Amino acid sequence: MIPKRLAKIINEINNILLPRVCFGCNAQLYRGESTLCAVCRHDVPLTDHNFVQENAVDRIFYGRIPLKKGASFTFFSKNGLVKNLLHWLKYKNQEQIGEFLGAWCGANLSGDENLKTVDVVIPVPLHPKKLKKRGYNQVALFAQTVAESIDATYRDDVLVKVVNTKTQTKKDRQLRWESSKEAFQLNPSSDHHFKHVLLVDDVITTGATIEACTQVLQQIPGIEVSVLSMAMVPQG
Ligand SMILES: [Zn+2]
Repeated sequence: MIPKRLAKIINEINNILLPRVCFGCNAQLYRGESTLCAVCRHDVPLTDHNFVQENAVDRIFYGRIPLKKGASFTFFSKNGLVKNLLHWLKYKNQEQIGEFLGAWCGANLSGDENLKTVDVVIPVPLHPKKLKKRGYNQVALFAQTVAESIDATYRDDVLVKVVNTKTQTKKDRQLRWESSKEAFQLNPSSDHHFKHVLLVDDVITTGATIEACTQVLQQIPGIEVSVLSMAMVPQG
């Protein structure tokens, strides 16, 4: 075992050689900080959504799918902080950002009465080819960390993505829906003995992906689906 004093010195050397910087503003992080500095952490536009009161996520899905309840942890907003974090998480191999956000979100949600019936937490899956290319599902660590906080089981074997859709940037909701509704399937070899799913995605924009996944999960008799995203685009 390394004595405490020596560990501290090694840490300091590490900080000099590999300075840890804030993913929001590039400032050097102090001891005890991770991923974001205290200033940026304070600037993250949290939604304050919970699983009791109606919110903007619920309203996206009215008349589309019978969601039990929805919530987003943050807003995609003008300061770009959440956008930057998710960009690093998704495209720059910074998988640990998902754990950082999941721990924070999970701490906020851990007492939520309406999450007590959630049996399983399921991430929106990536197509196997995309998973192989990226090396990880950017939603996985967030979903796992939240699952631990609410005492539910993380399950990434239930939903599979069978169509490798291109990154969609066009804003036509109908087209996006058409392209994703056949994109997901239930994995026939996984067990489906659960009643309340918390489906987790990175960003809710039009809601097309959540809609497609929920339609697939509803093939399980008696299932209830709630939704949580790391971020949502504020609806105009
Ligand atoms: Zn910062």
